[in-house]
Amino acid sequence: MNRIKKGDTVEVITGEFRGERGAVRIVLPKEGRVVVSGINLVKRHQRPTGRVRTQAGIIEFEAPLRLSNVALVCPRCHQRTKVAFQIDGEGGKSRLCKKCGEPID
Ligand SMILES: [Zn+2]
Repeated sequence: MNRIKKGDTVEVITGEFRGERGAVRIVLPKEGRVVVSGINLVKRHQRPTGRVRTQAGIIEFEAPLRLSNVALVCPRCHQRTKVAFQIDGEGGKSRLCKKCGEPID
């Protein structure tokens, strides 16, 4: 089970965007990366290609960040936190905030 899921709010803890918060849009488990809404925007120049009508000019997109560079923000206490896992009666796992002890899911 991943400690960070799509839809979570995370805070960047290192690098150029340190301290910025955003919602996780995409989790890339194989790469160990996440795409966070509004963070790590990269501009790319794009030319129209072939017959397919593509958007020309400058496009902006969010480049993935390393999972190790972001921390989960607890939706209850709004603090940057670590995730604890709790095993429930049915053998499933749920996430808990280590700061306030509240469930995150
Ligand atoms: Zn909390």
